[in-house]
Amino acid sequence: MKECSVEGCSKEGVHEISYVNAKVLEEHGLKLRVYHARPPRRPGVVYLCEEHYKLWKKLSKKEHKIEKMLMKGA
Ligand SMILES: [Zn+2]
Repeated sequence: MKECSVEGCSKEGVHEISYVNAKVLEEHGLKLRVYHARPPRRPGVVYLCEEHYKLWKKLSKKEHKIEKMLMKGA
């Protein structure tokens, strides 16, 4: 079982998302533990619990344009 990647949160990480997309959480002051990162080509992934996933979705809506740009380059 994976733990939520947000520092200080020990709930189950049920959603796996790319670190590229998760960065928006760090921009809002949360610290993330990143898995499988192999810079520069692989940004890695993070695992989010239900609660932080909802928060991420809310935050990432605003960043949608940036997200698309990054996806292109990946
Ligand atoms: Zn969490």
